[in-house]
Amino acid sequence: MLGSGGPGATGRAGSSYIVLVDGTPRILVDAGPGSFARLGEAKLSLAKVDVVLLTHLHIDHAGELPGLFKARAVSSNGPIRFQVFGPDGRKGSGDDASFPSTSRFVDLLFGPEGAFGYLRDFSAPMTIQPTDIPATVRTDATPAKVYADGDLVVSAIAGHHRDAPAVIYRIDHAGKSITFSGDIDAEGLPDLRRISRGTSLLVFNSVVLDPPGSPTILYTLHTPPKAIGEVAEEAHAGKLLLSHLSPVIDKSQEAVLASIARRYKGSVVFAADGLNVAP
Ligand SMILES: [Zn+2]
Repeated sequence: MLGSGGPGATGRAGSSYIVLVDGTPRILVDAGPGSFARLGEAKLSLAKVDVVLLTHLHIDHAGELPGLFKARAVSSNGPIRFQVFGPDGRKGSGDDASFPSTSRFVDLLFGPEGAFGYLRDFSAPMTIQPTDIPATVRTDATPAKVYADGDLVVSAIAGHHRDAPAVIYRIDHAGKSITFSGDIDAEGLPDLRRISRGTSLLVFNSVVLDPPGSPTILYTLHTPPKAIGEVAEEAHAGKLLLSHLSPVIDKSQEAVLASIARRYKGSVVFAADGLNVAP
């Protein structure tokens, strides 16, 4: 775990994870601010990290991508190829913001006319292949396989984070799995239930207390502990990792655990930067 926090500068890096497969770092999930420093502290190499999964394009999940890509560039001799998965875009209306698709986002950063276009041939030739994943919640949705390499499989389904297009990912390998909820509100929970069935480790973003403990507006963005416990129990998740922790969750850990335990009886871990969690 590179980053266990959210958008506030609270001492935790923003959302970011490195998934090791048979001991080798292979997949980056989100790239929140501060994860660059945590990567160095963890003494992990990006040399074999070719797959990037972005749950959505808010800054606390995607802002450090250029720093991490340049770190890979300066430590590589040969050509680099990243596959970057993330949500498709959305045109805003009214109070809702517009969001670029992941391919547009990558182009704005690293394309020929992009802010950091120079990185494509800096110290090693770099190719970035983006994939836009449909991020509109549908009642008939099923998880789609988006990446496979041998028995390493990544599947995805739309999430819901108010107006920000969002994706839920599940990584399966050798009979174990990790599911990343991303930032998710109540409208995304049916899809999370579909993709997390039987998962070994459910990484659930935990930002708000049970109502009315947090500001009303936050419930249009995030899932409270009672619902987290319900989803984890229905999924028969082997282990629950609470991440993207806000200061109010940090201060109320006992109440959060008690609320989750009303339904979910498995083990619950609070995230910390640098923590290594086995599924
Ligand atoms: Zn967030």
